Amino acid sequence: MARLFVSDVHLDTQAPQATAQFLDFLRGTAAQAQALYILGDLFEAWVGDDDQDPEKERVSEALRALGARGVPCFVLHGNRDFLLGAGFCARSGCTLLSDPVVADIDGEPVLLTHGDALCTDDHAYQELRSTVRAAAWQRRFLALPRAQRELLANEARAGSKRHTARTIPVIMDVNPEAVAAAFRATGVRRMIHGHTHRPAVHELVVDGVPAQRIVLGAWYEQGSYLACEAGSYRLLDLPR
Ligand code: MN
Repeated sequence: MARLFVSDVHLDTQAPQATAQFLDFLRGTAAQAQALYILGDLFEAWVGDDDQDPEKERVSEALRALGARGVPCFVLHGNRDFLLGAGFCARSGCTLLSDPVVADIDGEPVLLTHGDALCTDDHAYQELRSTVRAAAWQRRFLALPRAQRELLANEARAGSKRHTARTIPVIMDVNPEAVAAAFRATGVRRMIHGHTHRPAVHELVVDGVPAQRIVLGAWYEQGSYLACEAGSYRLLDLPR
């Protein structure tokens, strides 16, 4: 049985085909797996666990059903859904992991992270990240009425799109030094992340030792997942 990894599903009411495909994935491929790891940005937006969007609710229920079948599901925060909290975990049965985290994957320690923290060349984004990840900021934000939080989240998404459109692509990719530092700090030889929407398997050498960085794909045009079985990894597309 395989362990499966996805990220950047970006579930959104504006993209019902992606939601339908992800629900199919949960009920089909994932139901046969040993465990499912969602490495951030499952949702395009998450303004608090009091979100009552019926589509998000369907996803939570499908995750809960997966857990009930004996497939544990682990979730990391992404830059879009970093406010997923205890309420979401209670409804979905998912376990929230800290980002980054070193997980035991078939006996090997593997670094799992969303990946946005590795994009250190994007100074404007890193500044925003440290603001919104502060506990005090999150307490103030979550105390606002939901309608106001949704309005602010929409503004933030528009601002993010403008920023992405005028920033050169290499700035929004991971920084090689940040990647090397993460390998050094954790001592692992393999990391898995998403965020950049550049699915690939990168073979590296860090301090003279081989290392591997696996990047998961986004679910905008098609599905994408990584399967690990008996220590071998395969990045797979799911045509829509
Ligand atoms: Mn992201």
